[in-house]
Amino acid sequence: MKKIITKLRAVFNSINTKLAIVFMLMLLATIEIIGAYFTRQLDQTSIENFQTSIQVPTIVTNQLANQLVRDTKNADARLGQIVSDYNNSSVSDFIVVDNKDIIREVSNLNDKDRIGQRINDADVKQVTSTGRQVTRVMQDRGGNFMIQITPLTSGSGSGTTVGAIYVKASMQSVFSDLRNTSISFLVASLVAAVMGAVLSLVISRAITRPIEEMQFQALHITDGDYSNQVRIYSNDELGQLGRAFNTLAVRIELSQEESESERRRLDSVLSHMTDGVLATDRHGNVTVVNQMALRFFNVQEGEIMGRPIAEVMAQKETSSPDLIASQRDIDITVNENTPDEMILRATFSLIKRVTGFVSGSVCVLHDITEQTKNENSQRQFVSNVSHELRTPLTSMSAYIDALIEGAWKDPKIAPKFLEVTQEETNRMIRMINDLLSLSRMDRGVSKMSLELVNLNDFLAHVLDRFDMIVKSDAKKGNKKKYQLKRDLGTQALWVEIDTDKMMQVIDNIVNNAIKYSPDGGLITVRLVQNQNRVVLSISDQGLGIPRKDLDKIFDRFYRVDKARSRAQGGTGLGLAIAKEIIAAHQGRLWADSREGKGSTFFISLPYEPMTEEADWDEV
Ligand code: ADP
Repeated sequence: MKKIITKLRAVFNSINTKLAIVFMLMLLATIEIIGAYFTRQLDQTSIENFQTSIQVPTIVTNQLANQLVRDTKNADARLGQIVSDYNNSSVSDFIVVDNKDIIREVSNLNDKDRIGQRINDADVKQVTSTGRQVTRVMQDRGGNFMIQITPLTSGSGSGTTVGAIYVKASMQSVFSDLRNTSISFLVASLVAAVMGAVLSLVISRAITRPIEEMQFQALHITDGDYSNQVRIYSNDELGQLGRAFNTLAVRIELSQEESESERRRLDSVLSHMTDGVLATDRHGNVTVVNQMALRFFNVQEGEIMGRPIAEVMAQKETSSPDLIASQRDIDITVNENTPDEMILRATFSLIKRVTGFVSGSVCVLHDITEQTKNENSQRQFVSNVSHELRTPLTSMSAYIDALIEGAWKDPKIAPKFLEVTQEETNRMIRMINDLLSLSRMDRGVSKMSLELVNLNDFLAHVLDRFDMIVKSDAKKGNKKKYQLKRDLGTQALWVEIDTDKMMQVIDNIVNNAIKYSPDGGLITVRLVQNQNRVVLSISDQGLGIPRKDLDKIFDRFYRVDKARSRAQGGTGLGLAIAKEIIAAHQGRLWADSREGKGSTFFISLPYEPMTEEADWDEV
């Protein structure tokens, strides 16, 4: 039942039905108005025509008036003759009265006894007294009748009223004609109404069909389906509307595609950005987040969406709206105390509408970990350099002061003091030179002059120099006893190196091995070829390096024992320079050590074994 009611409601709610009903009602109203007017006119005309049809001709009235004026027996017979001669099928009663309202003649044979009697009719009395005709329609058991009372005047109608004619005519035929016409009209109206209803349904269907199709198409468009087109039935307003609708659909599809590709482009820009991006609503709750930001915070998208940005950035002292409104940059540390620790700089900017209304904010997260580290190491470096220079300068100043104050006169102390001053000066010059070569390497202006050398021959040459030093030390009676052992192999290993720089590296490592082996010992230089690399190792049996310092000894100015290094004339820059030089050869420098037992320094360099053909090519 409910279903039927809903269906009916839907039918009555449709424009189609409404149009049909309105059209039909209008048609009915028009037919009714026209019908009412037409029947009224027809009624009037029919009655008037009937009235005219029963009107007694003037010739008859004149004859009757003449006979009444004569008032003789012969006249009465004449009256009877005229009345019986008068022949009108519609007239049922024809009564002639004189001006005293006495019935003088009747047409109906059954009423002949009324002759001579006074007529009992107020209208007849009125006509005989006023001389004006009276016509009325009346109804009795026999049906509808028209009564027409015409005055009879003497002297061709201009004289005095001598009597009246009372005519009674049945209107049955008139009314039955009228009824028939009305019935025909009603049937015609009904047929017209039905035809009108059908026609209006067809017309309204023709109007609503394109509208329905447009509605259907609009629903498809809302679902993102632009494949259909509205059918054009005609070139009228609806056809034009349909065409405009199709154009609109194409435009919407184009702009939808455009905005979709724009969105995709933005998405890909956002997801490929190396900076993290967060967008918030005006309350500071996260609405958009890109891949990099998720990686920075080490979270999934679902965990961050909708959360207040201050909470995401662990800013406890401030609320999200204040944070975005302040628009100042803040540095935050994420994944603190983990290997992934990072320092991020968050830059906020507000999203404003044309009206100035703030609708949200965008926060860009830039990874400044490396930058911060560099800045810190830069600061550290400047402080280290100042410190390294101040120490020798302070000691030199003290010695020079002592000399000025008179020590120069003492032949035993003065040369010693001057010797120390000279040593410190030389150390400072070495340090400045080291710093300059580091700076050149940092700036990338230190050019490498690579040449293909047999590493075995090259090492033999470098180590020969150390053998000479060892021998001369022994001759000088140096107590420290150390030996250089070579384990180089016989195979020729051709590598491309900058010989001067590589010599500087090996000198530094071997010198360190000597420096940090106070009790002497064996210094072993070994060369091993391993697939596409050659590894040179230099081991000593000296002090060794604590495990915690193993990586740091390659940092600038880092020394395990500052006093010892300084006493040995070290600058703390040798290994840092060595590391840079080896890196420039695409190699690697590292150390292994056991404290108190000795250290080994490894240099690994890329090596391409030469094929026989290549050897021949060389020749
Ligand atoms: P320095 O001029 O101080 O020798 P380096 O950069 O050459 O500077 O070396 C850095 C530090 O590494 C040294 O101060 C020393 O503490 C440590 N070191 C280097 N080589 C050795 C070694 N063979 N044995 C023990 N410690 C060493």
